[in-house]
Amino acid sequence: MSAAIVIVGAGLGGARVVDDLRSEGYEGDLILIGKEDYAPYDRPPLSKSVLVGEQDRVDLKPDDFYVENKIDLRTGTLVTAIDTAAHTITVQPAVGGESETIAYSSLVLSTGLAPRSLPFAEGLAGVHVLRTVDDSHSLRSEIDGATRAVVVGAGFIGCEVAASLTTRGLEVTVVEPAPAPMAVALGEKVGNMVGRILTDRGIEVRTGIGVTGLPSENGKVTGVELSDGTVLPADIVVLGIGSTPVIDYLDGSGIELADRTVGGGIACDSEGRTSAPDVYALGDVANWKDAAGVPSRVEHWNNVVEQASKVANAILGVVVENPRPAVAYFWSDQFEVKIQALGHPSGEDDVHVVLEEDGKFVVYYSRDGIFTAVVGAGKPAAVMKMRAKLLVQTQISDLLG
Ligand SMILES: Cc1cc2nc3c(=O)[nH]c(=O)nc-3n(C[C@H](O)[C@H](O)[C@H](O)COP(=O)(O)OP(=O)(O)OC[C@H]3O[C@@H](n4cnc5c(N)ncnc54)[C@H](O)[C@@H]3O)c2cc1C
Repeated sequence: MSAAIVIVGAGLGGARVVDDLRSEGYEGDLILIGKEDYAPYDRPPLSKSVLVGEQDRVDLKPDDFYVENKIDLRTGTLVTAIDTAAHTITVQPAVGGESETIAYSSLVLSTGLAPRSLPFAEGLAGVHVLRTVDDSHSLRSEIDGATRAVVVGAGFIGCEVAASLTTRGLEVTVVEPAPAPMAVALGEKVGNMVGRILTDRGIEVRTGIGVTGLPSENGKVTGVELSDGTVLPADIVVLGIGSTPVIDYLDGSGIELADRTVGGGIACDSEGRTSAPDVYALGDVANWKDAAGVPSRVEHWNNVVEQASKVANAILGVVVENPRPAVAYFWSDQFEVKIQALGHPSGEDDVHVVLEEDGKFVVYYSRDGIFTAVVGAGKPAAVMKMRAKLLVQTQISDLLG
């Protein structure tokens, strides 16, 4: 009997790749291993509907999916080591218990990210990060007893959390060292347009300023100290200051990592192959090369889905004739506004505001006269119709008329 295909990480990437493998006709053993106690669930709702209390958890597959598809789902199980020569992994219960060795024919790594913290946040009650459903429930459980929250970091998760906490009635301040919210992803000008979605709805946004301390009393945070000496009172502090790839279990495996200057994570080719035979990686933890050989690591939902399908095909040797070309996409929901980005927006590109009215906007990006991305807020049709223009070299002048 041949060894199983083993997937490490029972999140979006893990759930998609087992589904894709079965859909492509793979009938052998499949083992999906996840550290958390839950079957794969969706993370985007954690900062939105789960945090405001509309939902508890959004599972990615129906309960019977794993049994019906003969997928050996092992939750609460941690992978601690990989022996690429022996084609085995070591697993142990996430809490206590004996370790075990499992053989693989192919191994897929989709272990995602761990949120960053601040050194002075260690052990303080009232300080939160947001990556797991337990994180979201823990933050949610403190909302009713709180009045003021400070969100440190105005990336897309920080902005969404600020919106959700405001919806739940808290007074919210967002603190961000960059000159505008979401400036890393969208550039300063569009970041400021996103910032107005927040400020128009009562959130105070303080940009260009750092955090130097978290005052506390009896082990519970009471505020956020800023680099200009101001102290913002807070019952709840949420750290949205980025995440790092989960790769600790790779120590000693010899699997090549990507350089930090290109985003770090597990170095892969354009179909998810790592430097070790029969080992693949995908999703937030993986740093793939594009068709031109340029490496990057992406932390968005749609990218995981596209990579899972490519990894399943690569493992099974399926060749897709005329694959639908991919265009990078992500979205963020802040209050009732859906922000969407197609293509690769960059703060270094030229920005052309083609529509701005009633808090909604559409912006095109260009580099050297070529259209590179579209970002919209509350304008889904205007964004999505630009997909075809991003698949070919389009002169921005042709779009602006
Ligand atoms: C709060 C939040 C909101 C988001 N909102 C959006 C959005 O609006 N739009 C968008 O495009 N994207 C959004 N995303 C991003 C999107 O959810 C991620 O890109 C996606 O979940 C990544 O999937 P993944 O499989 O790579 O990792 P994950 O879904 O994180 O799964 C990784 C799993 O691996 C497990 N694991 C780690 N180490 C081990 C180990 N050693 N052994 C066993 N298991 C292990 C982890 O516990 C985890 O369950 C959001 C993410 C978060 C956290």
